[in-house]
Amino acid sequence: MNKNKSYTGIDRFRLIAAYLIVAIHTSPLTSVSAEGDFILTRIIARIGVPFFFMTSGFFLISRYSRDEGRMFSFVKRTVSIYALAIVIYIPVNIYNGYFRQTPLLPELIKDILFDGTLYHLWYLPASAAGGILAWYLVRRLDYKKAIAVTAVLYALGLFGDSYYGFAERIPAFRYFYMLIFQVSDYTRNGIFFAPVFFVLGGFLADNAGGVFGRNGFISQSAERFLIKNCLGFAVSFALMFGEAMALHRLGVQRHDSMYVFLLPCMYFLFRIILSFKGKRLTRVRTLSLVIYIIHPMVIVALRLFAKILHLQELLVENSVAHYFAVCILSTLAGIVITVFTDNFKPKKRTTDRGTDRAYVEADLNNLEHNVREIQKIMPKDCRLMAVVKAQAYGHGTYEIAVHLNKMGVGSYAVATIDEGIALRRYGIKGEILILGYTAVSRVRELKKYDLSQTLISFEYASVLNKQGVFVKTHLKIDTGMHRLGIPWDEFSKVEKIFSMKNLRIDGMFTHFCCADSAKPADEAFTRGQIAHFYGLVEEMEEKGIPVPKLHMQSSYGLLNYPELSCDYVRIGIALYGVLSSPGDDTLLKPDLRPVLSLKCRVALVRNIKEGESVGYGRAYTAERESRIALLSIGYADGYPRALSCGRGQVFVNGQAVPVVGRVCMDQLAVDVTDAGEVARGDVVTLIGMEGDGEIRASAVADNAESISNELLGRMGGRLPVIVKI
Ligand SMILES: *Cc1c(COP(=O)(O)O)cnc(C)c1O
Repeated sequence: MNKNKSYTGIDRFRLIAAYLIVAIHTSPLTSVSAEGDFILTRIIARIGVPFFFMTSGFFLISRYSRDEGRMFSFVKRTVSIYALAIVIYIPVNIYNGYFRQTPLLPELIKDILFDGTLYHLWYLPASAAGGILAWYLVRRLDYKKAIAVTAVLYALGLFGDSYYGFAERIPAFRYFYMLIFQVSDYTRNGIFFAPVFFVLGGFLADNAGGVFGRNGFISQSAERFLIKNCLGFAVSFALMFGEAMALHRLGVQRHDSMYVFLLPCMYFLFRIILSFKGKRLTRVRTLSLVIYIIHPMVIVALRLFAKILHLQELLVENSVAHYFAVCILSTLAGIVITVFTDNFKPKKRTTDRGTDRAYVEADLNNLEHNVREIQKIMPKDCRLMAVVKAQAYGHGTYEIAVHLNKMGVGSYAVATIDEGIALRRYGIKGEILILGYTAVSRVRELKKYDLSQTLISFEYASVLNKQGVFVKTHLKIDTGMHRLGIPWDEFSKVEKIFSMKNLRIDGMFTHFCCADSAKPADEAFTRGQIAHFYGLVEEMEEKGIPVPKLHMQSSYGLLNYPELSCDYVRIGIALYGVLSSPGDDTLLKPDLRPVLSLKCRVALVRNIKEGESVGYGRAYTAERESRIALLSIGYADGYPRALSCGRGQVFVNGQAVPVVGRVCMDQLAVDVTDAGEVARGDVVTLIGMEGDGEIRASAVADNAESISNELLGRMGGRLPVIVKI
């Protein structure tokens, strides 16, 4: 991620939150005003812990997720820190007489699972449990439902916390909470308290901090965003303040961690924090954690020292001075520990995982840029249907679709049902249209994954209808391409399809076969296709058949016939910022930027004598003493074999060098005699920019007598995708 775009606000607020938590445990204002102390430690400081939960949720929870790895490593890390903290505090526990309790074991288990073995440590098990719960809820349900479930848990928690006085009066409730309190001293734990904040954190992360609007991209200016959230925070905080004071006066609080208005308060506060972008401050992250863990120890140590040095009056009895002393000493100790752990941590190896052989680099900034360019030329009220078939044209379905979904793109097209299912498993919401054939035997999966199926012929529609499962569909009309679709002039069949009761027809579309061509005959043909399609629509209107959403254009259709009025445009290749062929001329020429670069590593450099050959078929024989670099990429990675023997060029050291001999399945050779120093591990660019030079996908495809669509579409097999933001 771009350094200056990171959430520096989160890192900075970690320190503030840590000092607020120290305040809860030291009551800084007791010697000044009891009321003031209540306000500071029982109301204001109550945002500290939820902030940490939200931060963890922000980085952990996402509905876009492929595996559970991230969640497990979060839990592992939290549990390890917890285990370490438990051990560190054993001496304090001994001193407190903790181990003299009888019976010890049930109490110990309860504390380890919920309450923490020292008063502040409950946060760590709560964090692990809350994280797991939130993670599964968001994956299984959507955000709305996950928020609803965790809000119900939170409400149950409230009545065991700030609102206990009310619950206590109802016997059934009293009994319920009695049971809970046998297991956990409070309801502010990993079940009732933490999950809702984790879910909220994830929600804000998936919605790009709320900056992206529903269907338009940056929906409002940064200042307006900030002002709105500050207002929201001020109002919610005032309400929480009133709530807390009222509950306090009524004397109903059993504990005071949870308030109703803490939820909106945290939501707005976190959005404010997210608007501060800048450099990441990883050390502050560690520092805040260390302060949090060690401050109780500092409190004990400070009391001891104060006693020895007879400074109790200043350092203990004066609550304000005591608080600052604890903060300063904890911070100093924290800095020492942070620096120490930093220096002694096994240095993270600069990993080249994913880029160690051959890989695709997907530039998501360019993708975003292209989407905006395309949206500019789309007719009003027309929506983008992003075509992400064939691994998003080799760019990685997951990386591309998730980014588009976060940007607010709500419609997707794929070629196969399995591509559609993959999108759902990644958490993509919105409409997903399968453009190709799906066996009717899989009709239940269409329904289960909420996919829309293209009706490719009358016969297909009839059979699909007979399966007895209600499915979403788009009807395809053949207006001259003669591939899939019901012929445009068979109105009676179209009419019958619209009466089939198991088919919900949300859309109707056709596909152009020569919209890329500027030849007058081809243009006339396309105009004919358009006329046929609109003619059919008119006939439907006349016969009173409700017209569903309409779409016709793919990339070249939009670039050459932008005036057509439609509900969707199905855009593939243009989204990825390339033309199909280098010489293509289009009516509109938006500034599209290539998203994909294809790169690989040098595996070996060897010297070849004049007259020696390289590779299969001895297709290349050196005419001079040469240096040959073997590259770790081949046709099984999508680099066409047709580029053998000098038809392809790649950038080594910023210089274009030719492919020599035949491209193999997994490797190929280039002549680097004139390319300067080349060594194993050097990165080679096969498609993309290097310095001032660029090798375009369309040119590479053209050299292989193909088009970019095929070239890119074949890259989705073995190559890992690295995202560049
Ligand atoms: C692949 C495909 C598209 C996307 O085409 P591009 O030229 O890549 O924009 C649109 N519609 C249908 C039916 C397709 O098969």
